[in-house]
Amino acid sequence: MTQLGLPEEILACLFDLDGVVTKTAAVHAAAWKATFDAFLREREGEQFRPFDAVTDYDEYVDGLPRPDGVRTFLASRGIELPEGEPGDPPDAPTVHGVGNRKNDLLLATIRTGGVEAYEGTLRYIEAVRAHGLRTAVVSSSANCRDVLRAIGAEDLFDVRIDGVVAAERHLPGKPHPDTFLAAAHDLGTDAAHCAVFEDALAGMDAGRSGRFGYVVGVDRAGQRDALYAHGAHRVVDDLAELGGQA
Ligand SMILES: [Mg+2]
Repeated sequence: MTQLGLPEEILACLFDLDGVVTKTAAVHAAAWKATFDAFLREREGEQFRPFDAVTDYDEYVDGLPRPDGVRTFLASRGIELPEGEPGDPPDAPTVHGVGNRKNDLLLATIRTGGVEAYEGTLRYIEAVRAHGLRTAVVSSSANCRDVLRAIGAEDLFDVRIDGVVAAERHLPGKPHPDTFLAAAHDLGTDAAHCAVFEDALAGMDAGRSGRFGYVVGVDRAGQRDALYAHGAHRVVDDLAELGGQA
């Protein structure tokens, strides 16, 4: 292991955004809950079973592209909606409509509440770069660039593969490994020489199926065992635990 807590062969580090670099997981979970609860209440009346911002979030939506999150959670309740179009209004009873309702709520929260970064992660990325490793941010979020700008972290990454780039290149999102593989490719290396840093179970699955050299689970939600079960080589509460501090 190196001073960065990584195997010697690792040449590049691929970081998830929400929940690893920024404290936006709770903001996403709250926006999903408000969206799904309003949807379910409209459909099933006051007897509806609310979206659980911990268990439903972890199991069905965390880390997935927005339409996949809508589809997967609603399927867990036996509900199937027409896909609709990306430009559907937020009250349309379609996969895209529900997703747009969630995104409107999220953007409003980001604009009013600001975005906070995990200091331990920022310091670790700086250390990684100081040791000559290359870095990428790999996020399902279509708002990745705005969020990076909001925390002044645009320059910390050599490559950005986010929801916008994934749509342009037709890359399937997590749990598929394609967005991480695209980041490795753009950094001029391959999966065996990359470490993946993720807080979502879907991200662990992507790390395992893509055969990445090292997969670090970041436990923000008390799900250490589940992160290991989904393929983490190591689980930490904060990236500062890996070392790299001068
Ligand atoms: Mg995440």
